[in-house]
Amino acid sequence: MSDCIFCKIVAGEIPSDRVGENEGAIAFRDINPEAPVHILVVPKLHSKNIIELSQNEESMSKVMELMREVTQRETNGHFKFLFNTGEEAGQTVFHSHGHILSQGAS
Ligand code: 5GP
Ligand code: ZN
Repeated sequence: MSDCIFCKIVAGEIPSDRVGENEGAIAFRDINPEAPVHILVVPKLHSKNIIELSQNEESMSKVMELMREVTQRETNGHFKFLFNTGEEAGQTVFHSHGHILSQGAS
Protein backbone atom coordinates (compact mmCIF):
# COMPACT_ATOMS: atom_id res chain seq x y z
CA MET A 1 0.00 0.00 0.00
CA SER A 2 2.16 2.84 -1.30
CA ASP A 3 -0.07 5.64 -0.01
CA CYS A 4 -0.55 4.21 3.48
CA ILE A 5 1.08 6.25 6.25
CA PHE A 6 1.55 3.27 8.60
CA CYS A 7 3.08 1.14 5.81
CA LYS A 8 5.57 4.01 5.38
CA ILE A 9 6.29 4.05 9.13
CA VAL A 10 6.78 0.24 9.07
CA ALA A 11 9.21 0.68 6.15
CA GLY A 12 11.07 3.46 7.97
CA GLU A 13 10.20 5.99 5.25
CA ILE A 14 8.46 8.17 7.85
CA PRO A 15 10.18 8.50 11.24
CA SER A 16 8.48 7.33 14.44
CA ASP A 17 9.36 7.02 18.11
CA ARG A 18 9.60 3.21 18.20
CA VAL A 19 9.28 1.42 21.51
CA GLY A 20 9.22 -2.18 20.28
CA GLU A 21 9.31 -4.54 17.34
CA ASN A 22 9.04 -8.23 16.50
CA GLU A 23 8.91 -10.21 13.24
CA GLY A 24 5.31 -9.22 12.54
CA ALA A 25 4.61 -5.91 14.29
CA ILE A 26 6.01 -2.58 15.44
CA ALA A 27 5.05 -0.31 18.33
CA PHE A 28 5.57 3.46 18.38
CA ARG A 29 4.31 6.46 20.32
CA ASP A 30 1.20 8.23 19.01
CA ILE A 31 2.03 11.66 17.57
CA ASN A 32 -0.99 13.17 19.34
CA PRO A 33 -1.15 11.40 22.73
CA GLU A 34 -4.47 11.20 24.55
CA ALA A 35 -3.00 9.65 27.73
CA PRO A 36 0.40 9.79 29.54
CA VAL A 37 1.27 6.57 27.68
CA HIS A 38 -0.23 6.32 24.18
CA ILE A 39 1.42 3.70 21.98
CA LEU A 40 0.22 2.20 18.70
CA VAL A 41 0.81 -1.49 17.93
CA VAL A 42 0.81 -1.97 14.17
CA PRO A 43 1.11 -5.18 12.11
CA LYS A 44 3.83 -5.05 9.45
CA LEU A 45 1.44 -6.60 6.94
CA HIS A 46 -1.20 -4.15 5.74
CA SER A 47 -4.78 -4.89 6.80
CA LYS A 48 -7.44 -2.22 7.00
CA ASN A 49 -8.91 -2.94 10.42
CA ILE A 50 -9.17 -5.49 13.28
CA ILE A 51 -11.69 -7.58 11.32
CA GLU A 52 -9.25 -8.06 8.44
CA LEU A 53 -6.27 -8.43 10.82
CA SER A 54 -8.01 -11.16 12.81
CA GLN A 55 -8.28 -13.26 9.63
CA ASN A 56 -4.47 -13.59 9.58
CA GLU A 57 -3.55 -15.61 12.67
CA GLU A 58 0.19 -15.06 12.34
CA SER A 59 -0.09 -11.28 12.02
CA MET A 60 -2.68 -11.08 14.81
CA SER A 61 -0.61 -13.15 17.22
CA LYS A 62 2.47 -11.00 16.57
CA VAL A 63 0.42 -7.89 17.41
CA MET A 64 -0.80 -9.49 20.65
CA GLU A 65 2.72 -10.66 21.55
CA LEU A 66 4.12 -7.14 21.08
CA MET A 67 1.23 -5.63 23.06
CA ARG A 68 2.11 -7.99 25.95
CA GLU A 69 5.79 -7.09 25.82
CA VAL A 70 5.27 -3.31 25.53
CA THR A 71 2.57 -3.08 28.23
CA GLN A 72 4.83 -4.97 30.66
CA ARG A 73 7.53 -2.37 30.13
CA GLU A 74 5.53 0.85 29.63
CA THR A 75 2.49 0.44 31.92
CA ASN A 76 1.69 -0.73 35.43
CA GLY A 77 -0.59 -3.43 34.04
CA HIS A 78 -3.61 -1.11 33.91
CA PHE A 79 -4.36 -0.02 30.35
CA LYS A 80 -6.82 -0.02 27.46
CA PHE A 81 -6.08 -1.79 24.17
CA LEU A 82 -8.40 -0.21 21.65
CA PHE A 83 -9.09 -0.74 17.96
CA ASN A 84 -11.24 1.99 16.44
CA THR A 85 -13.02 0.32 13.53
CA GLY A 86 -14.67 2.38 10.79
CA GLU A 87 -15.03 6.13 10.35
CA GLU A 88 -18.09 6.36 12.59
CA ALA A 89 -16.07 4.83 15.44
CA GLY A 90 -13.25 7.34 14.95
CA GLN A 91 -10.84 5.35 12.76
CA THR A 92 -8.72 7.81 10.76
CA VAL A 93 -5.82 5.59 9.62
CA PHE A 94 -6.96 2.56 7.63
CA HIS A 95 -4.03 0.29 8.46
CA SER A 96 -5.05 -1.73 11.50
CA HIS A 97 -3.57 -0.63 14.82
CA GLY A 98 -4.27 -1.09 18.51
CA HIS A 99 -3.99 1.88 20.87
CA ILE A 100 -2.35 1.18 24.24
CA LEU A 101 -3.65 3.88 26.61
CA SER A 102 -2.29 4.03 30.15
CA GLN A 103 -1.41 6.34 33.01
CA GLY A 104 2.16 4.95 32.91
CA ALA A 105 4.53 2.52 34.57
CA SER A 106 4.62 3.77 38.18
P1 5GP B 1 -7.32 6.04 14.68
O1 5GP B 1 -8.01 7.36 14.80
O2 5GP B 1 -7.28 5.58 13.24
O3 5GP B 1 -7.80 4.97 15.63
O4 5GP B 1 -5.83 6.28 15.16
C1 5GP B 1 -4.86 6.87 14.36
C2 5GP B 1 -3.82 7.41 15.32
O5 5GP B 1 -2.62 7.58 14.59
C3 5GP B 1 -4.19 8.77 15.91
O6 5GP B 1 -4.20 8.67 17.33
C4 5GP B 1 -3.07 9.70 15.40
O7 5GP B 1 -2.67 10.64 16.37
C5 5GP B 1 -1.97 8.74 15.04
N1 5GP B 1 -1.11 9.15 13.95
C6 5GP B 1 -1.53 9.61 12.74
N2 5GP B 1 -0.46 9.88 11.96
C7 5GP B 1 0.64 9.58 12.70
C8 5GP B 1 2.04 9.65 12.44
O8 5GP B 1 2.50 10.05 11.35
N3 5GP B 1 2.88 9.27 13.45
C9 5GP B 1 2.42 8.82 14.65
N4 5GP B 1 3.34 8.46 15.57
N5 5GP B 1 1.11 8.73 14.93
C10 5GP B 1 0.22 9.11 13.96
ZN1 ZN C 1 -0.64 0.06 5.42
